[in-house]
Amino acid sequence: MVIAVLRLILIAFLVYVALLALRIFAGIKRIKRAARPRPAAEPRGAMVKDEVCGTYVPRDEAVTEVRDGVERYFCSEECRRRSRTS
Ligand SMILES: [Zn+2]
Repeated sequence: MVIAVLRLILIAFLVYVALLALRIFAGIKRIKRAARPRPAAEPRGAMVKDEVCGTYVPRDEAVTEVRDGVERYFCSEECRRRSRTS
């Protein structure tokens, strides 16, 4: 009789833990989804330097290229092409 009650409590506890874990898991998923649209750490409208001609251009308008894991910025396609050949 006592064992049956203990087993019932154990099952209830396991269900409670499972529900808690599910809720936490769903919460993490929701946070990740909400964070996805804004991955940029830098503020919008920040100025970046074109290494080819030395011009500063707004990050939003810059021509970008990822090379060796580093993101590079250029004022135009022309400068991007020139950086590749040099
Ligand atoms: Zn340039």
